[in-house]
Formats: sequence, structure tokens, C-alpha cells
Amino acid sequence: MSGLGPTLPASGKAIVTRAQSARWLMRTRGRLDQSGLRILFYHRVADDRDALAVSPRRFREQMDFLAAAGYRVVDVAEAARLLVRGEVSRKTIGLNFDDGYLDVAKHALPLLEELGFRATVFVPTGVIDGTASFGWYSRQPPLLAWDEIVELDAAGTLRFEAHSITHPNLLRLDDETAREEIAGSKLALEARLGRSVDAFCYPAGLFGERERRLVAKAGFAIGVSCEPGVNVPGADLLALRRRQVDPRDSLLDFRAKVGGGHDAPLPLRNLYRRLRYGEGRRMQSTRLPRRPHEIRP
Ligand SMILES: [Zn+2]
Repeated sequence: MSGLGPTLPASGKAIVTRAQSARWLMRTRGRLDQSGLRILFYHRVADDRDALAVSPRRFREQMDFLAAAGYRVVDVAEAARLLVRGEVSRKTIGLNFDDGYLDVAKHALPLLEELGFRATVFVPTGVIDGTASFGWYSRQPPLLAWDEIVELDAAGTLRFEAHSITHPNLLRLDDETAREEIAGSKLALEARLGRSVDAFCYPAGLFGERERRLVAKAGFAIGVSCEPGVNVPGADLLALRRRQVDPRDSLLDFRAKVGGGHDAPLPLRNLYRRLRYGEGRRMQSTRLPRRPHEIRP
């Protein structure tokens, strides 16, 4: 089925994840590595049967763990600032939500406020407008509306940043369309929020040298990928590393993701993505038709 969310079939991914977490636990006895700054990302926080939805109960358990372990939790812009200043010695986690689902405001925000955490939400402006939709849903879950986004952004706990206009696979677009998806999303979001928008999230984490260049040229200071790993001072701010938290992650998996046990991609992930998305294989033609169904979050 084309266009579904997860990068690997969910059950297989959970098994491989669990094995990687167990190795981390044996290797480190659960000691949390603090050598740099890790960014964790979610999509939805809801009880729905959806490969992108972490349950509110698990989300609370995860955030409570971070609070109890003494982590400072910051949005992506603040994470980038800390990296630039070289201030990553304290326990710090960058947090973000992709795509702008309504359940993030409902189930995650109250907890973040309670704990004093901050997070970025990356929104595709055309999908929020309702002129585009996520191709991997037959029934798309409710998204935040513009008036809610403007209000929440001003309130301070959630900071909204750009995630293209229609959430395409940028690698498959001609130069002009890719430029419009990147630069146009910045302009549209800035017009709504009334402030400068500095961070861009590559849809599905798919990007190459051209996309990175277009993001820089559009005036973004920060770009986030879906490549796992730790960000250290001097890191490429236009290709920051992030690790997704999955619905099936146990608390051990989450601890391992926080503590450095999942800094390497899962086995076979790169092969899978190459086969599925043609990643790394630059499209030669500049007149390829757009393929809106070959996208994922
Ligand atoms: Zn997305």
C-alpha cells in the first residue's frame, strides 16, 4: 500500500527496536549518554489505531521519565541555539511534533505546560489550509486550524515552524516546484504568525544537496532530517538529526532513544528507504510529474 506512514512494517520495527534497546541496556547498564543533543519527534498523541499515534498514557510516561531524570526539554530553535553556543553539556532533549495534528494540543500540550517543556510543531501550510491532504490517510485525523496555531504559537509552549506546503517528496519535484514548496511555506507561515520562521522539516526526512541548498537560500537557519543520531556543536544546522518515537516503544526503548542506544539507523532501514522512495537516486528529469501518493509523514 503506497503512502502509509511508518518506515518499516510496525511489528518488525518494534522487534528490531527492542533488540537494539536491550543491547544498549547491556552495554551501558542504562546510563544515559550526554555527549550531545538528541531531538525526539512524534506525530500524533492519541489512542487511535494509527502507526503515527503514541497513546496519551505512554506519552505521559515518557515525559515524566524526562522530568524525573532532570532533562531540560526545548524546541528545535532553542536546540539549534544551544548547539551554536556549544552549550549542550546539561541534560537536554529537543522535542517536536510533525504535521500539526489537533490531538497534540489536546493530549500533549497540557502535560508539556505542566512540566515546563517546550516543543516545535512542523506544519505544511497547504494541508492546514485544506488545499492539500496527507496521501497516507483515507480519513485524515483533524489538524489544528490557523486561528489555533496563531494562538498557540503566541502562548509559548509550542513553536510552529515550516514543513513545506503540500508535504511532497521533495526529491521528486522539479527545481521550481521544490523551491516554491520550501520558500513558499516560509512566507505563508510568516504571514500567519507575524514573525520570522527559521526552521524547516524535510517531508518524510527526504532531502539531498539541492533541497538543503534551497532551504538555505529561502532563509531558513535550521533544517531537520529523519536521520537518527546525536547533534554536537558544529553540526550541520540544515541537517539536524532526529529520532522518531514510535507507538510501540516501551519505556526501555524510549530511555534508549534518549540515552544514545538508537543513534544508528535500524538495520536494513537505508535499503528499505532506497527501494521505497528512490532516496539517494537523484531524478534526472526536471519534468517528472508530481507523485502525491508516494509520500509519507
Ligand atoms: Zn510530515
